[in-house]
Amino acid sequence: MSQETIRWMGHACSYTPLALIHAAGFTPYRVLPIGDSPDRAGQLLHDNLCPHVKRILDRAMDSDLPALEGMVFMNCCDAMRRLSDAWRVARPEHRVELVDLPVAAEESAVSFFAGELIRLSGTLAEWSGKSFNQTDVSASVDKFNEIAILLENIGKRARERTLDGGGPRLQDLFNGAATEPVDRTVDLLNSVTAEPELPGAEPDGVPVYLFGNVLPDPEAFALFRSCGVHIADDSVCTGQRAFSPIHGADSDQVFLRLARGLLEHPRCARTFDPSRPGKIAEDVLAEARACHAKGVIAYTIKFCDPYMSRLPAIRNVLREAGLPLLLLEGDCTMRSMGQQKTRIEAFAEMLR
Ligand code: SF4
Repeated sequence: MSQETIRWMGHACSYTPLALIHAAGFTPYRVLPIGDSPDRAGQLLHDNLCPHVKRILDRAMDSDLPALEGMVFMNCCDAMRRLSDAWRVARPEHRVELVDLPVAAEESAVSFFAGELIRLSGTLAEWSGKSFNQTDVSASVDKFNEIAILLENIGKRARERTLDGGGPRLQDLFNGAATEPVDRTVDLLNSVTAEPELPGAEPDGVPVYLFGNVLPDPEAFALFRSCGVHIADDSVCTGQRAFSPIHGADSDQVFLRLARGLLEHPRCARTFDPSRPGKIAEDVLAEARACHAKGVIAYTIKFCDPYMSRLPAIRNVLREAGLPLLLLEGDCTMRSMGQQKTRIEAFAEMLR
């Protein structure tokens, strides 16, 4: 596919219905909070706002993006809603849509969200000038499921240390899958899958479970390794969580299927089960135990209210289970991660 034929559509959240964007004829492009754009978001957003959102806006203000035709924002938190407002000012030539995202995954929320997806598909069809039907959406869901499964298998190899390049390369593949055309991604992931596996090596770091929001810089994973930490499994918005397969096969109900699949993704702190508000803590514990972690690292972005409100419950559950927790707060830069190097090393030492 030549660059000229690609029609980019931006997004910034792992709950975005990529299959709808793809079915409409666009290539979804996740605006990751990476790069060297100067810090200018403060001209439009308050200083004490999520650095994830601000770094994304810095990229928009610096034109450090491909030629996007527009942005699809998910109304996942107040900071993201503010970003959608600021984007209209920073990039007035872009089309912008804000999609409401329920906080729960119960049936009424699923049908509300399916309605939002139907509304979004009408908007995307208007923007692209291409009408598409449920069968097209179903075919796009299958494509993204293929990517999800390929990444899941490659991720397993990274954890077993049989993938050349390990965790940093895996993160590079996640970033590529979030920003490159779908067919190119499938080809690349198939060629990685076909590489001979490295002989399995004993982990040279202490096994730790990692969870949190956005950690897209491959160097962060190299840093963990250099500090003596082996990430035995993880759940972050810029990793496998952004590529969870959408289950079900009923193409007549594809919007419901997509809505349910997205809301039932492994959860970010902004989504919860009202009948079991502490479920995220139970999930963190269950996943840490499943990968035989000796400790847990939480990586959260400063000023992220959803994570700040869930962390006390997670801390309590892990303390009762005897699993140490290290909380790293960052601003999406390696500078902020590098400052925590000594703490990560001390944590790994304590767990040995
Ligand atoms: S990191 Fe937290 S505050 Fe920022 S966009 Fe994600 S959920 Fe919202």
